[in-house]
Amino acid sequence: MENIVIIGNGIAGISAARHIRKLSDKRIIVISAETDYFFSRTALMYVYMGHMKFEHIQPYENWFWEKNRIELVRGYVTHVDTETKQLQIDGSRAVQYDKLIIATGSKPNKFGWPGQDLHGVQGLYSKQDLDLLEVNAPNKDVCKRAVIVGGGLIGIELAEMLRSRDIPVTFLVREESFWNGVLPNGESAMINEHILDHHIDLRLGTNLKEIVADENGRVKSIIITETGEELPCDMVGLTAGVSPNVDFLKDSGIELGRGVKVDRFLETNMKDVYAIGDCAEQHEAIGNRRPIEAVWYTGRMMGETVAQTICGNRIEYKPGHWFNSAKFLDIEYQTYGWVFSSKGKKEYEAHFHWRHPEEKICITAAFHKDTNQFLGLNTFGIRMRHEVFDRWLTEGRDIDYVMEHLADANFDPEFYKNYEADIASKYNSDFGKSIKAKKRSLKRIFQTA
Ligand SMILES: Cc1cc2nc3c(=O)[nH]c(=O)nc-3n(C[C@H](O)[C@H](O)[C@H](O)COP(=O)(O)OP(=O)(O)OC[C@H]3O[C@@H](n4cnc5c(N)ncnc54)[C@H](O)[C@@H]3O)c2cc1C
Repeated sequence: MENIVIIGNGIAGISAARHIRKLSDKRIIVISAETDYFFSRTALMYVYMGHMKFEHIQPYENWFWEKNRIELVRGYVTHVDTETKQLQIDGSRAVQYDKLIIATGSKPNKFGWPGQDLHGVQGLYSKQDLDLLEVNAPNKDVCKRAVIVGGGLIGIELAEMLRSRDIPVTFLVREESFWNGVLPNGESAMINEHILDHHIDLRLGTNLKEIVADENGRVKSIIITETGEELPCDMVGLTAGVSPNVDFLKDSGIELGRGVKVDRFLETNMKDVYAIGDCAEQHEAIGNRRPIEAVWYTGRMMGETVAQTICGNRIEYKPGHWFNSAKFLDIEYQTYGWVFSSKGKKEYEAHFHWRHPEEKICITAAFHKDTNQFLGLNTFGIRMRHEVFDRWLTEGRDIDYVMEHLADANFDPEFYKNYEADIASKYNSDFGKSIKAKKRSLKRIFQTA
């Protein structure tokens, strides 16, 4: 029987294992160093915040794996030999494969800051990081101030987590405005306000110079590059992005860039070796996507795709329209299609921005300047239907149509206030149009409720 070995039990590796099992009777072995069982990394924050126990973020019961004949091995793969098709686990045990899937995810970036390895300095990625956070920042008596370095999605999550225990937080963000490499200016400005409203000491345009140790080798303060200010703190969270977790493959002959290089079929340069999820790097980016996409949905889609190929139906990875969602403190964010940041806007791209006059609710729609084709939408504080935007993007709808029919995509419950009319009125005034926003149909409201 063919031996399929998967390194990594995250969403990518586990999606591959589940789908290979659905499609075949092959032997499946999943090796992972982090935990015995798959868990939802995106929900780690809720464990610290007390909304859930760690067991609750494991989507499958422990018996699921044996029942589905997916063998789980706890251990760290130290070496891959593609000639003998053998792996070394923890430098001692050997495992043979016929086909190998590398799904080893990411690790938090460290940029060589002095003091980055001191006690009290950590990232937020793994279950071990979560456990360490309970040691470094269990409450505001032990951690009188935390400093977070790096203003992305994980940084803001860590800030929210620490604030949930009333721990004072200083948030160092290199950019002049939060996440403005991704978000258009209006949205980025709104999130700056929101962070400050949550009593987080947001320092924009600010870099970490060094982390200073006390006499026991524990963090006692940080120094800011721009001002030289020394800020006392008990914990430092490093959240300046992630990189593929591929160092153990350096002498394997498997082609590496920043991640494991793959073609459209998720195949590496070595026969019978594939890579998926955060650790995979496309030779050439697909459309507007990045060659490495460290997001949940990508891992799941790649896992499903590689399972087909391994089970004899060789198919290309075709991710479809870009979609992502996240949370900025209590503001839900969704993005469909492409809305580039104000800095990274394409020359053909026009933006329409609407923001609620009092509340932190806004949208930005992107469309083609010349053809009016709808290109994408960001929403903050309004929930939309993924499938509706997917359809509109595929159908190549124009921006007028989308603005008129926004109510069809609204996913907020019936009793939520609707803003379609206000949005249409701002759109008409910005662009000299006279569209009329459709109301939500009673049938739709009924379906939602
Ligand atoms: C706090 C946090 C919040 C996030 N929120 C979002 C979100 O809201 N939306 C979103 O789209 N994405 C989010 N992400 C990103 C998302 O979680 C990742 O893109 C996704 O989990 C990656 O899945 P993966 O299967 O590729 O890798 P991983 O989940 O990293 O799994 C890889 C596994 O392989 C193990 N491993 C690595 N090397 C070896 C080795 N040599 N031997 C054995 N095992 C090894 C690792 O320990 C790990 O368990 C978040 C990430 C974090 C950390």
